[in-house]
Amino acid sequence: MEKDIFCRIVDGEIPCYKLYEDDDVLAFLDISQVTKGHTLVIPKKHYDNFLTCPKSLMNKVMAVAQRIGQVSIKIFGARGVNILTNCYEAAGQTVKHFHVHVIPRYKEEDGFMVEMKDNSSGLNLPALAEQIKINL
Ligand code: AMP
Repeated sequence: MEKDIFCRIVDGEIPCYKLYEDDDVLAFLDISQVTKGHTLVIPKKHYDNFLTCPKSLMNKVMAVAQRIGQVSIKIFGARGVNILTNCYEAAGQTVKHFHVHVIPRYKEEDGFMVEMKDNSSGLNLPALAEQIKINL
């Protein structure tokens, strides 16, 4: 199977602006800076996405994402941070290697839009909650 682009970054075949590295996790600047400091945090070992990554490794990735978010606020004066991970193409995932976006936010119109519309009309929320709950 052909290596994905993030595996190639881990293996040093493609350069990146590296921010942090340990045995398991790598953090580097996203090549398309949605906002200043937009960072990707990945496990070095390949997993397709957040949903398929083992919990212990996912915790390590999230701990680094948290630190990068804290630092963005400290050094850039970001007013907020979006921590985001897309799972599968239907959810906007374009690189099939688990990654967490850390997107510092400076003002409302800063290049990143999150719009969550209320589509709950017609849904049976008690039944929906029950259906999810019994499958956890
Ligand atoms: P997603 O759409 O959630 O899969 O995000 C993939 C991200 O990877 C995008 O924000 C791209 O800009 C970023 N990306 C793709 N190639 C590279 C690269 N060579 N170095 C850094 N970031 C990259």
